[in-house]
Amino acid sequence: MNTTTRLSVGVDLGGTKTELVVLAHQPDLDDSVIHRERVATPNGSYTAILDTIEALFRHAETTLSLAWGQTIRFTNLGVGAPGTTVPNTGLIKNANTVCLIGQPLQADLSQRLNIPVRVENDANCFTLSEATDGAAKAKKVVFGVILGTGVGGGLCINGQLLKGYHGIAGEWGHNPLPRGAKETSEGLTTYPPRACYCGLHDCIETYLSGPGFVKTFTDYVNASPLSLQKQHPSNLLLRQSHAKLSAIDVIELSQTGNALAVEALSLYARQLAQSLAAIVNIIDPDAIVLGGGMSNVQALYPLVKQAIQRDVFTDDFDTPILQAKFGDSSGVRGAAWLGANQKR
Ligand SMILES: [Zn+2]
Repeated sequence: MNTTTRLSVGVDLGGTKTELVVLAHQPDLDDSVIHRERVATPNGSYTAILDTIEALFRHAETTLSLAWGQTIRFTNLGVGAPGTTVPNTGLIKNANTVCLIGQPLQADLSQRLNIPVRVENDANCFTLSEATDGAAKAKKVVFGVILGTGVGGGLCINGQLLKGYHGIAGEWGHNPLPRGAKETSEGLTTYPPRACYCGLHDCIETYLSGPGFVKTFTDYVNASPLSLQKQHPSNLLLRQSHAKLSAIDVIELSQTGNALAVEALSLYARQLAQSLAAIVNIIDPDAIVLGGGMSNVQALYPLVKQAIQRDVFTDDFDTPILQAKFGDSSGVRGAAWLGANQKR
């Protein structure tokens, strides 16, 4: 390390894993991860979560101090966490790690570590990472989407996250699925509304998450005439065992030509296109970046590009829809960028 190296520290607090990285920023060099550690997230105890983050932080300081032969003390920390930190109170809400709800995570960590700490929603961290040095680097207005176990979104403008008056900017996953997006290619709307954990029905998340996609496929299987199922013997089997299906299983079925899996993926692409079109018509971003497990499905990109044209209020739509550059690491990198931004 030399005197011009700046360090920023990020923690991604996930439902099952907690990861810390240290990013080194040096003039004329790409920013690089110089330390990374991942541990299990403690189950159900807020105090244990604070202990875990503090231990990762101290261990990183000790490790780098030993490696470089000098005392390293970090001066910033960014944390990506589920849910939203309410601007007025500093308390967490809407978190699926429920022991965080109502807790002042940012203030408690700042007090323990005696440094400024910034906590942001994990989808916001993802978007900041991809807008800073990821797939949408140098784009002014970036909408980032996570299509994973859940669906989240974030908005980054000129390198800064738009947090919003209530801290919910970009929470696109709990908008209703757009009108008409439940229709099959035959124009039928045959499926009952889907309940969402947030208390509403037919949220975008209930269709565009990985489990939502599996549900669409199993709906197709269950609704298909027996004659069609006979043509695809694997479907009969799936009808018995679909509770164990993953999104990857359905994608693999579509790649082997299973007609129902192909149809489910096609509908998913149209649903994603219509849901993104609603964003485009409001903020008209310079780039859209997709992350989460469903973003790894390469077949999705041309399908969405074709489908979205019908739904946006322009006839020459050419906004790049990009796969995340840093994949699963984007969340923790974005958390580190929160820390880096704090110093300036
Ligand atoms: Zn919802």
